[in-house]
Amino acid sequence: MSKTAVVTGGAGFLGSHLCDKLIAEGLNVICIDNLLTGNINNISHLFGNENFQFIKHDITNFIHVPGKVDYILHFASPASPIDYLKLPIQTLKVGSLGTHKVLGLAKEKNARILLASTSEVYGDPEIHPQREEYWGNVNPIGPRGVYDEAKRFAEAITMAYHRFHGVETRIVRIFNTYGPRMRLADGRALPAFVSQALNGEDVTVFGDGSQTRSFCYVSDLIEGIYKLLLSDETEPVNIGNPSEITILQFAEEVIKQTGSKSKIIHKELPEDDPKVRQPDISKAKNILGWEPKVDRAEGLRITIDYFKAESRSQNSEVSI
Ligand code: UDP
Repeated sequence: MSKTAVVTGGAGFLGSHLCDKLIAEGLNVICIDNLLTGNINNISHLFGNENFQFIKHDITNFIHVPGKVDYILHFASPASPIDYLKLPIQTLKVGSLGTHKVLGLAKEKNARILLASTSEVYGDPEIHPQREEYWGNVNPIGPRGVYDEAKRFAEAITMAYHRFHGVETRIVRIFNTYGPRMRLADGRALPAFVSQALNGEDVTVFGDGSQTRSFCYVSDLIEGIYKLLLSDETEPVNIGNPSEITILQFAEEVIKQTGSKSKIIHKELPEDDPKVRQPDISKAKNILGWEPKVDRAEGLRITIDYFKAESRSQNSEVSI
């Protein structure tokens, strides 16, 4: 009998790619999303597939799923800085109350649960690159605190359910990820730079652009998460691409790859914006035999093509 997986936040950028992966691996998938930041278009291609079911629900309330559940992948949360600044209470609630409900479901169903955590648990890191043993440098009362602390609480309660109730748990710490189905207007560096470059607008680099990030293409991330789900590792594992770049260089790369004439302008650096970020992925390499395969040039090419097609279809909708 095939296994059943519940994906919370399954209509989001990462959640929808996970639904695709799990269906392709032969699982039945129950996608739960309240569509606050998720988008039904990300999963519409799965409607009609007999192994796929969608439940519109806010997981901060009691979750009822009939029948057996083998895996739960908990991906529900606003995840881009603009979203969690606009939705601070919902972000705190889904990370705390939502994670509690999802763990309760895992305990009830005797299911294995994988929590989507984040490199934000490291805050503005004082060690570089970031290893899983590092406890982080987070400002609890700053604007990013609503996301960072919600995810830190989510990790804590996940470990408590593991230790106290014996629930099978996995924790992935996700670093910056990009690819098709990212929202054009989610305010993150990559969609902002690509849409600005494609529209010939100024490309907005925050601060002097010397802060670094390490961008992972979505298919690599999903593969790593799937391997972690099937592994025995209960402590957090970093999944990301260690190829690090300054945000200024990244903006220049996007302008070059899009063939745009846009200029770079500088805007104020947001509060508590991490100065560096790079995953140490030794643990994922050793335990999961995983490492990313798609380099930035290739990943960017695919993502730019996707954004071009998206903005064409948005423009044609407007003109109808
Ligand atoms: N950033 C930028 N211009 C933008 C959006 C973001 O320079 O229009 C910067 C942001 O300040 C951060 C980096 O790009 O230093 C990555 O930001 P993103 O929002 O993608 O995610 P974060 O890694 O901060 O969670």
